[in-house]
Amino acid sequence: MESIFDRYGAPVLTLLFIILMVMESRFQLRRRVQHRWKRVIINFAVSIPAFLLLRLMFIPLMVWLALENRGWQIGLTYLLELPAFVEAMATVLLLDYSNYLWHVLLHRLPVLWRFHLVHHTDLDLDVTTAFRFHFGEMIGSVFFRGAAILLIGATPLMVVVYEIAFEAATAFHHSNIKMPLRLERVLNFFIVTPRMHGIHHSIVKRETDSNFAVIFSLWDRLHRTVRLNIPQHEVVIGVPTYHNENELTIRHLLKLPFTKIRPWSGPLKRPSGDGAEGRGQKTL
Ligand SMILES: [Zn+2]
Repeated sequence: MESIFDRYGAPVLTLLFIILMVMESRFQLRRRVQHRWKRVIINFAVSIPAFLLLRLMFIPLMVWLALENRGWQIGLTYLLELPAFVEAMATVLLLDYSNYLWHVLLHRLPVLWRFHLVHHTDLDLDVTTAFRFHFGEMIGSVFFRGAAILLIGATPLMVVVYEIAFEAATAFHHSNIKMPLRLERVLNFFIVTPRMHGIHHSIVKRETDSNFAVIFSLWDRLHRTVRLNIPQHEVVIGVPTYHNENELTIRHLLKLPFTKIRPWSGPLKRPSGDGAEGRGQKTL
């Protein structure tokens, strides 16, 4: 089953990554504050342990759980016996919902925030931020996401299919691509888009505490955690107490979760207020 990820997922995701990177250069959404290639090196280096764990531990473990579950028959899809297509759609939706909840926990539980913070300290947001995850976050997610796979009763194939979709969506919504606003509005009705996720990476606390969804924007709408009315050029990316470039080296970032975590202190509200539409600044 992992071979599906290697044979189809890896080339598709690599191609998508290259396309997004080229598009970011041509149609830039937010102005960069840090040197682009310096960040590429940092984000890739930080991602190496997490990436190895994903491929060698996370995916095999999740597929193994789903395979074993055929015998255990735990989970919703085993109880309901739905038609195959409906079952596949329900699995994707519920797995995505579980990842919305996991992302909320990453922000709410101090022990998880230690690790997720590494991702949020990026001073710019682009497709390489989609790789910038501390390996500790990957290890922590095994228990939650494993439990979700069992409760949902996801099949091994759907586990791999969802993982590919999850990685593709993560690359897309972190990208710094300026899409035509009308197109992004239509897309955002269904899925998380770059402007929407950009607000989640803002230094303003209440903006970071919104837009947690991964693939479908529906979960933020349902939980009223959606926030779209912030113009992108007003968004300052990062965590206010971790805004010094010299402290964000590869070595520092890998050690960061094991240091004393600084509380968030920064602007509680945007001085210009929300909903800048009236002043001619178009938002989603
Ligand atoms: Zn986050």
